[in-house]
Amino acid sequence: MAPLLDTFRRPLRNLRLSVTDRCNLRCAYCMPEEEYAWLPRGDVLTFEEIVRLVDVFTGLGVERVRLTGGEPLARRDLPELLRLLARRPALRDIALTTNGTLLAEQAGALRAAGLHRVTVSLDTLDPERFRRLTRRASHGQVLEGIAAARAAGFAALKLDTVVLRGTNDDELVPLLEYARSIGAELRYIEYMDVGGATRWSPEQVVSRREILDRLAARYGPIDAVHDDSSAPADLFRLPDGLVFGIISSTTQPFCATCDRSRLTADGHWFLCLYARDGLDLRALLRGGADDAAIRDAIAAAWRARTDRGAEDRLALHQRGPMASLADLRADPRLEMHTRGG
Ligand code: SAM
Ligand code: SF4
Ligand code: SF4
Repeated sequence: MAPLLDTFRRPLRNLRLSVTDRCNLRCAYCMPEEEYAWLPRGDVLTFEEIVRLVDVFTGLGVERVRLTGGEPLARRDLPELLRLLARRPALRDIALTTNGTLLAEQAGALRAAGLHRVTVSLDTLDPERFRRLTRRASHGQVLEGIAAARAAGFAALKLDTVVLRGTNDDELVPLLEYARSIGAELRYIEYMDVGGATRWSPEQVVSRREILDRLAARYGPIDAVHDDSSAPADLFRLPDGLVFGIISSTTQPFCATCDRSRLTADGHWFLCLYARDGLDLRALLRGGADDAAIRDAIAAAWRARTDRGAEDRLALHQRGPMASLADLRADPRLEMHTRGG
C-alpha cells in the first residue's frame, strides 16, 4: 500500500492518544489557572472506541502510539487499554508520557500489560520548587515513580524537562547528572506558546542555543548526534559520552518532518499541536459510520494537511500565548492538557 502523505509529503506514523483531560498537577506552563472547563464525561471515548480508531489509524500507516493527557495514569484501568493495544502487531511502539505521581503504584501493571516505554516529566530536583511550579506537593511521589519504572524493567527511560528562565534554568546540570545517575535520557524542552500556556513570554524561553552554550561551558564541546528519525528531540553528546536531547519547537521547529497527530480524550483528531480545529471522529463513531467511512475521512484530512504550526509561530513578529483565556474557556480542546503534549 502506498504511504498516506500530506501536502508536504509527510507520512502519518505517530498518534498521541490523550486518554483524559484531567490532571492532578497544575504546572505553571500548562495549567496555570484556578478553574478549568472539563470535557463532559459521557463524551470521553471508551477503550473499545479508542482501539477501534487505533485499528483504522494503523491501517493508514500509524505504527507508534503515545498515551498522554492530562495525566494518563489518572484514567481508570489504563493497563486494560494497554493490554488491548499490545495485541496489535501493527503497533511497533507503545509509549507513555506521565507526570510520574501515580507511577509507583502502576509501573508493574503497565509493564505487564505491554507498555514498551515511559517518559516522565521532571522539571526540578527541589521539592519546594516542584510545589511552587505545580501547585502540588508530590515531588517525592514522582521520584518514587521513576524508581518504580526502573525496577519494573522499562529500558530507555526518558525524562522531560521544560526549561523556564528564572524558574529552573539553574538546574540544567543537576538534572542531567540525575538522569545519568539513573541511566535515563534527559530531554530539555523549550517553553512553548501552546494553548493553555497563558503566562508564556519570550523572555522566559531558554533556547536550544543557550542550553547548549551553558552545557558546553560546564562540560566542554558538545557534538550533535545524527539520526534520521522524525523524533522531536535532537540528540547531543557530551565529551564524556553522555547523550541528551533538546526539543526546540519554539526557536528551531521541526515541522518539516512531522508525522504526528493527536486524538483528544473525546475523540477530536488534531493534525498539529497548534491547530485551531480538529476532526470530530467521535461523531463518526457514535453516528454509526463504518470503519471504511472513518478511514476515508482520516485519509482525506491527512492528504490535505498543510500544518506547520511551530514554524508559523516563529514567523510572527510579536509572539504571545497562542490562545487567550476567553478562547480557552470557549473551546477547551485548544488546551495542551486536552489535546495531549
Ligand atoms: N501530564 C503528563 C506529563 O506532564 O508528562 C502528560 C501530558 S503533558 C501535556 C505532556 C508534556 O507536555 C509534558 O512533558 C509537559 O512538560 C509538556 N508541556 C506542557 N506545557 C508545555 C509548554 N507550555 N511548553 C513546553 N512543554 C509543555
Ligand atoms: Fe503538568 Fe502534564 Fe498536568 Fe500539564 S498535563 S499540568 S504538564 S502534569
Ligand atoms: Fe508537527 Fe505542528 Fe508540532 Fe510542527 S507544530 S512539529 S506540524 S505538531
